[in-house]
Order: sequence, then structure tokens, then C-alpha cells
Amino acid sequence: MRIGVIAIQGDVEEHIASFRKALGERRERGQVIRIDRKGVIPSCDAVVIPGGESTTIGRLLEREGIADEIRGSRDVPIFATCAGLVLLAKHGDEQVMRTGQPLLGLMDITVNRNAFGRQRESFEAELSLSFLDRPYNAVFIRAPAITEAGSRVEVLGTYDNLIVAARQGKMLALAFHPELTDDTRIHHYFLDII
Ligand code: GLN
Repeated sequence: MRIGVIAIQGDVEEHIASFRKALGERRERGQVIRIDRKGVIPSCDAVVIPGGESTTIGRLLEREGIADEIRGSRDVPIFATCAGLVLLAKHGDEQVMRTGQPLLGLMDITVNRNAFGRQRESFEAELSLSFLDRPYNAVFIRAPAITEAGSRVEVLGTYDNLIVAARQGKMLALAFHPELTDDTRIHHYFLDII
């Protein structure tokens, strides 16, 4: 199994480390590699889009031709966190529209890029996620949220009445940062999807 982490900007190393840890826990052979140019996506069994600045990551994905490769890889499992969730969305909020930042537009969701406002730039919360039997301690950093979801989207978790975890087919979108905690249960859920 080969998992590619988009390595343009953001918390790339943490994602690589936590997927390697999860693969090790399952005693599964697998490679976790960086994607920083065109031509790598077709050889990957799954793609990880990290958090960071969605404007920067989105623009560079377009410029490098990686965005079109992701759009063209139908059905490739995608693990998107925070800024990655913003990029997966079909529709953005007013801020996204005004700046014209490019989105991948793969998931039937509308996002609010900075849903929790400045007062709560970062925080941790115990989430109950539909696919886990115990609460999950989630780290939110300038987190987005999903404000509308289409019929093909399965809501996996909410916080403050906002959707913060969702799945559509093999795409998993998380508003928080599972790569920043030791808990790999969400990674295992995704590895099962792959
Ligand atoms: N809200 C940020 C953005 O849209 C994402 C923050 C993050 O990834 N930690 O770029």
C-alpha cells in the first residue's frame, strides 16, 4: 500500500509519522511518501491533504498540476484535515468566494473556512464520532466546519452544531488534526476504507 501526503505546506511530517505508526500497529506493509510534484498521484493508493493554509496549498496544487491529477483519480481514497477539508469542498463561504481561492470541488459540502472565529483560534474537544465506541480528543486550529452537506455525505461528527467530520464514498474530511495526537483510531478507520 502506498499513501501519498501532499507536501506543499502545512503539517506534512506529522501526517507521515502518524500513518507510519498506524501501519506499524496493523503490521501492514506500506509506504508513506511525499507528493510535491506532478506524476506521483497515479501510483498512490490513497492521498492525504494536510492542514495549513488552504489558499496557499490550493494555488500550488493548481500550479503544479497536482490538483487536476487528484480530480482525475476517481475513487482514490482521500484523507483531508482542516485546510484539506476546505480544499475538498464544492462550495465555499463568502471569504472563499471573495478571494477566489481554488478548491478541488470533490465533496458535496459547503465550508466555512474559519468557522470558530478568532476568540477560539485553537482548542481541544472530546468528540463523539459515529464510527468509534469511545470519545476522541480532537485538536482544532483555526478550524473550518461544514455548513451544508449533500445527500451522499455521511456526517460522522459534530461540534457546536457544526459538522466537523464527514465521509463521502472513500473521502474522509476532518476539521481537526488527528495527526497531532497519539490516538490513531481515525487512521485505522481510513486504512479500512482503503
Ligand atoms: N482555516 C484555515 C484555512 O482555511 C485552515 C487552518 C488549518 O489547517 N489549521 O486555510
